Amino acid sequence: MTKDIYDVAIIGSGIGGLSAAARLARRGYKVLVTERFRLLGGRCSTVNLNGYLVSTGAIAIERGGPLEQTFIDVGAAFPVKRPDPQMAYYVNGQTHVTPPKGGLRWLLHRVAQDERDAERVMAVIKRAMTWAEPSMSISFKDWLSQYTTDPNIHGVLQGAIVTTQEINAWEVPAGVFIRFMKNGGYRDFGLCEGGNITMIENLANVVRSNGGTIWTNATTKRIMVNRWTATGIVVDRPNGEVEVGARVVISSAGPKKTVELAGRENFERGYLMEVDHKIRPAPVVALFVVSDRPLIEHPGAFIPVNTRRLYLIFQATLTCPELAPKGMHYLEAFSTFADSLGPVNLKQEIEMNIQDVRDIVGEAFDKHARILAAECFHGDWPAGHTWPGYDVGQKTSIEGLYNVGDGVKLPGWSSGTPAAAETARVVVEDIVNRYRPGGN
Ligand SMILES: Cc1cc2nc3c(=O)[nH]c(=O)nc-3n(C[C@H](O)[C@H](O)[C@H](O)COP(=O)(O)OP(=O)(O)OC[C@H]3O[C@@H](n4cnc5c(N)ncnc54)[C@H](O)[C@@H]3O)c2cc1C
Repeated sequence: MTKDIYDVAIIGSGIGGLSAAARLARRGYKVLVTERFRLLGGRCSTVNLNGYLVSTGAIAIERGGPLEQTFIDVGAAFPVKRPDPQMAYYVNGQTHVTPPKGGLRWLLHRVAQDERDAERVMAVIKRAMTWAEPSMSISFKDWLSQYTTDPNIHGVLQGAIVTTQEINAWEVPAGVFIRFMKNGGYRDFGLCEGGNITMIENLANVVRSNGGTIWTNATTKRIMVNRWTATGIVVDRPNGEVEVGARVVISSAGPKKTVELAGRENFERGYLMEVDHKIRPAPVVALFVVSDRPLIEHPGAFIPVNTRRLYLIFQATLTCPELAPKGMHYLEAFSTFADSLGPVNLKQEIEMNIQDVRDIVGEAFDKHARILAAECFHGDWPAGHTWPGYDVGQKTSIEGLYNVGDGVKLPGWSSGTPAAAETARVVVEDIVNRYRPGGN
């Protein structure tokens, strides 16, 4: 077995891994990124399906938050294009394009069966944000039910929750969603020009141009540990196994996988209890529909309310036409499971997503649409490695071994790429305070 030495070995080339790698490489650390697939980017990348550039996961990319800040900090371009208008809710067959500021109040007043309920709900949300956050022991839906039974208000808030938290209003703790809103929510978002791979390549170029190394087709088989301290990784490459010595190991494979790679026997029992009890992946279903004309006229996030399962449609090609062959379009439609912990019948879940899209698109679905792909994202490729509010810390009980990504989010950050980028920033700050580049 050959042996290489790095300051930091990073498992995974998603937003979490590459954000950490770019920040560290810029600060003079000798970094290695290992990615098991040929393609970089993990759940924020792009594959070409019959000429359509579709996402491996993320679609709405937050602007003005920690992800964009990462690109600014490392000097990389952030080609994220804002759809205009940005957001619309679809309630009882009517499209409501929400104003950029005060959208929730505006919308609740328009759709509530009794406007006094809208006013009451806005007042209790304000009180929860400015006085005391609701308990973590109650779901948002149960908390809201104390103040209204209006199905439209519940539907709109379920839409706001599932699009940002990737789980349902009856699953997310009320305190988690309120804290997310206090933090400013998803302020602004867009779609990446040319697909997410453009962003990923920009970050990878920062790593390479600052002396970092990226291996693809390189599966980390094991994290090496000696006396409760990480000492490197063992990587399976096309030409054989390589042992990589490193003072720091960062894993973006998710906390459960990290434990498996380092071996349960090397962790403190309390840490294992946290991982075993808390970590719970958030699954979603995504449907890709191609057509010779847009099926939804709204270019931004289109959020249908009180459907079987569907919670978000993006007619992506209205903002980024380069994602489809000339003259063609595609939309991506997302749904959650009614019970994110399952078990579920995957075929049935996909079928319900299709039925919901068909109901909204109407006749044009049968005349102009073709299903390109229908996928359940779950297991080790979920919408989130753990539900918001169910994260473990970025540091593990093994010295020098960190996790980054959407299994170790900070309180108040929802899920997704901004949360993953923020974990990388926090971990890099800790590394910079503890380890010198090239030092012992
Ligand atoms: C369908 C779907 C829709 C989503 N929508 C949005 C959205 O609209 N907006 C948003 O911001 N976020 C969204 N997300 C979430 C977002 O994609 C993720 O939160 C983010 O990309 C996670 O980045 P990460 O670096 O933590 O993990 P990942 O992207 O999963 O990266 C981990 C990488 O590690 C690699 N790896 C794993 N094990 C090993 C190993 N042993 N050796 C080597 N490599 C390994 C994996 O192949 C992967 O490339 C969505 C996700 C999905 C699935």
